[in-house]
Amino acid sequence: MKLEISQLSKETQALIKDANQVIGELYKHGYEAYIVGGAVRNILLKEDINDIDITTNCLPEDLLSIFARTVPIGIEHGTVLVLWGNNQFEVTTFRTDGEYIDHRRPEQVQFVSDLKSDLERRDFTINALAINDSFDIIDYFDGQNDLINKQIRAVGIAEHRFQEDALRIIRAIRFQSVLDFEIEEHTLQAIHKLATTIKYVSIERIVVEMKKLLQGKGIEKALKLFYQTIYAYVPFFKSLKGDTEAYQFHSSIEFNIYIAYIIYCEQKFGHDLISQISTLKLSNQDKKNIKDLVTIFDHLNNPKMTKKAFVYRFDLTMIQTVNEFIQAEGLFFDNLMDSQETKHIYRQLPIHSRDDININGNILINYLQKKPGPWLKTLINTIEIEVIEGRLDNQQETILEWAKQHV
Ligand code: ATP
Ligand code: MG
Repeated sequence: MKLEISQLSKETQALIKDANQVIGELYKHGYEAYIVGGAVRNILLKEDINDIDITTNCLPEDLLSIFARTVPIGIEHGTVLVLWGNNQFEVTTFRTDGEYIDHRRPEQVQFVSDLKSDLERRDFTINALAINDSFDIIDYFDGQNDLINKQIRAVGIAEHRFQEDALRIIRAIRFQSVLDFEIEEHTLQAIHKLATTIKYVSIERIVVEMKKLLQGKGIEKALKLFYQTIYAYVPFFKSLKGDTEAYQFHSSIEFNIYIAYIIYCEQKFGHDLISQISTLKLSNQDKKNIKDLVTIFDHLNNPKMTKKAFVYRFDLTMIQTVNEFIQAEGLFFDNLMDSQETKHIYRQLPIHSRDDININGNILINYLQKKPGPWLKTLINTIEIEVIEGRLDNQQETILEWAKQHV
């Protein structure tokens, strides 16, 4: 079957044309080369693509001499980045993987001369398709049929493939969600059977897949399978005590909001998961963001500050995203604020950050004739609250007068 690209966006067509020029260059030098992997899958699904991987029988060192602009990003695995026009392509030499160690990495890779062996090492049939320079589709494992039938099926014997590399288990669940596909029976059985091996996969890799999973159209069935199979062997999730059905949503959700909601729910059963956030190995910014989100959920259920202080303290879009999630899932919160109300309160706030207060530490010290000390921080905090709540005018003179009476 030939590939039809006319229905794709101009950008995707331009990207495919550039990739084809790289492939043409390799043919000129007597090599074979193909577009492979996710790009082929997405092109056949008529979806736009951002990157294209190319596979070839040309060895990495020869790639470096054929192309003028290259970056040797993974020579030991046979991967060279080729810069072409305004685009770049990961070009990888046909390879098979050696013996797998730790249910995760092959001990070594071997370069091979035929495309079929290269496609055989790939995880799922829909990811093991290739396109040649004439836009013919090469399909050794019936991947096109699986695309039509919307199913994820391992290449070869599913159990062996998951045994080799446990990352494929969560990749299957991620593709189930993102593509809204079903997982083929034997592949599914193997996931159930080998669920515990997910413990060999680093949490960083799992988080990458979870983020994509949570954004997918098929999130509901994917989360269901996640909780039926692997969650008890994944850091953070293995500590859950609540009913995991409460964490199975049907609309897409940002990863941080998902984690924060789980922490909030578990808290209600007296289970503190805050200390478990570190097991997810996230950036400090994400950790702070999750803690803020937990406070937002808490507030919407059981307010510990005024609405003005709440809207002042937290980012407006963050509050709104949480609201949208709560509404999309039809969750019940005693003190829910709709986005109209939130925006209205925000607009009415006399200040939006501490920098907006018409006073600073030096002015206060001079005016009050006091030595700097912890009192100053407490005073500024109180002034901030008084101004936000509208009990104190944001005028320097008024604030100084007020300060004199309150220290
Ligand atoms: P995405 O659209 O998310 O990038 P993708 O299918 O391109 O999806 P990548 O992680 O970019 O996924 O991998 C590119 C290709 O490499 C896959 O399509 C698949 O053929 C192969 N691949 C990736 N990871 C594995 C793995 N763990 N085991 C076997 N093959 C894999
Ligand atoms: Mg990809």
